[in-house]
Amino acid sequence: MNTVPIKMTKKRKLILDELRSVKSHPTADEVFSMVRKHMPRISLGTVYRNLELLASHGLVLKLESGSGPKRFDGHVGNHYHVRCSICGKVQDLTEADWPELEERARGLTDFQITGHVVEFSGLCPDCSGEGNHGRFET
Ligand SMILES: [Zn+2]
Ligand SMILES: [Zn+2]
Repeated sequence: MNTVPIKMTKKRKLILDELRSVKSHPTADEVFSMVRKHMPRISLGTVYRNLELLASHGLVLKLESGSGPKRFDGHVGNHYHVRCSICGKVQDLTEADWPELEERARGLTDFQITGHVVEFSGLCPDCSGEGNHGRFET
């Protein structure tokens, strides 16, 4: 993690505020369109660089996946995610916090365990056909 103090510019503050205001775990493109409403002249590159910087300082979480774009999370407290394997949508598993996972990991490695990331995969209601959109209208 980057320990040099971050200068909280107006742009960074706005990006952070926008990200913290949603639960959708947006991609950089989505953050860009949210931020642009308030700061029409900001560029995608600026948003992207600032997201990376905020992530390197631990102010936002960067959710990487093997396929699909990175997503960002303004909520950095210990919480777990479930990701849809079809559309890539990410949701929080609220109130999931299992410190015993770290205890178990400590027993299995010489590494000093400092944290953990848990991501479940599945199908969101839209993709599994169980959401409102998938229902048959007769
Ligand atoms: Zn889905
Ligand atoms: Zn989250």
